Amino acid sequence: MQKIQVGVLGATGAVGQRFVQLLQGHPWFEITALFASERSAGKRYVDACRWNLRGDMPTALHTQVIHECAPGPECQIVFSALPSETAGEIEKAFAAAGYVVCSNARNHRYDPDVPLLIPEVNPEHLALIDIQKRARGWNGYITTNPNCSTTHLVSALHPLHLRFGVTKIFVVTMQAISGAGYPGVSSMDILDNVIPYISGEEEKMELKEPQKLLGTFDGSGVRYADFVVSAHCNRVPTRNGHLEAISVEFAEKPTQEQIVQAWRDYQPLAQQLRLPSAPQPAILYDARPDRPQPRLDRMAGSVAGMATVVGRLRPDPLLHYKFMALGHNTIRGAAGGSLLNAELLVALGYLGQEAALLAKSTKFA
Ligand code: NAP
Repeated sequence: MQKIQVGVLGATGAVGQRFVQLLQGHPWFEITALFASERSAGKRYVDACRWNLRGDMPTALHTQVIHECAPGPECQIVFSALPSETAGEIEKAFAAAGYVVCSNARNHRYDPDVPLLIPEVNPEHLALIDIQKRARGWNGYITTNPNCSTTHLVSALHPLHLRFGVTKIFVVTMQAISGAGYPGVSSMDILDNVIPYISGEEEKMELKEPQKLLGTFDGSGVRYADFVVSAHCNRVPTRNGHLEAISVEFAEKPTQEQIVQAWRDYQPLAQQLRLPSAPQPAILYDARPDRPQPRLDRMAGSVAGMATVVGRLRPDPLLHYKFMALGHNTIRGAAGGSLLNAELLVALGYLGQEAALLAKSTKFA
């Protein structure tokens, strides 16, 4: 059976390169188109892209010629790693032209008819796709994944919210420099330092993303969850992996053991479907007193960089409990999150019957 053809928008950037890396040898997808700005369009990938990841740029892509970010090239899905200054209109143009757009950019995350998706958390929000296509008259559609720090916050809290109902969240993030793209924050600013400000980040975490992700689809739209979030977002001199100190209050206060059990029992749809990029388990609980740590734990789990690692669970004198969560920002927090979204779309038939059959015919351990 033929693989599904995919493209990468912003293929030369930090997240775009992650897409390229993660798509190598993927059982369902193959890259047939690479897109970037007009500065890179017309050049070979090897000439336009300063490869910045461990391991080499895939040889098969060296001579692929980069396209400008406009519909035309043959592929069914486009993964978007475009900056927010340009992503909005470009993604709409692709969806209108019939492509399935899986985006990392923030532009459409809060559109009422666009799913903001973590496959483990809210697969039922995919019902928005039909609403979106009808409302906009598109053949294609857009799905989005949340911001990198929200992803791991919500992933860690979802099993707890299901059982005990989250009412208040206080979170302090320690976000890696790769979260700012390449070249990102200057070395003179970040070495020997912590920058206690990341533009727009606290607003996304406090007011929008966790509430939409943990909201309820009511048949016509998503009703946002009504817990309160207070977020302090900081840039720290780690390279990859966002660490988050989280305090939480529940509607029904559980015991510490019940929280650990909720994490251990967590077996959501993405894991049940055994999607290729779904880590087994989705959440790793580490009981060691000094873990998780970015350098040691960001690649933990059965699919490197895709799990959320939690630890240091203890009572909190202000809210009920506090703990640490860690996750890779450019893998699960960006490209890997989008990739898993696309796998869920395929498995649930949102790319048609042939694609769903391909997914079924490929078995995973
Ligand atoms: P980046 O390293 O700056 O890469 C930007 C990419 O977009 C490059 O391929 C660039 O191509 C292309 N591009 C720039 N301007 C363009 C234009 N006018 N038209 C078409 N293409 C253009 O950025 P990044 O860190 O990968 O971030 C990409 C997106 O992912 C952003 O929306 C970001 O917020 C989001 N995101 C990032 C992270 C993270 O951890 N880094 C996490 C979650 C979400 P050229 O090389 O040709 O300039």
